[in-house]
Amino acid sequence: MIYTCDKCRFIFERTGQVDSCPNCGKPSIREATPDEREEFKKNRAEAKQVNARRPKP
Ligand SMILES: [Zn+2]
Repeated sequence: MIYTCDKCRFIFERTGQVDSCPNCGKPSIREATPDEREEFKKNRAEAKQVNARRPKP
């Protein structure tokens, strides 16, 4: 499931129960809205592209 923190707007994915935000530590988390889930997937896809462009050592 994907969650959003209402305090800092951090969007993250977790399986199972989550008690607090991994970014700010506040318990102000809720299930992400469809819009927020799209944003999360987009950000993740962009992060993968950045890694792919990195030259191999
Ligand atoms: Zn937070």
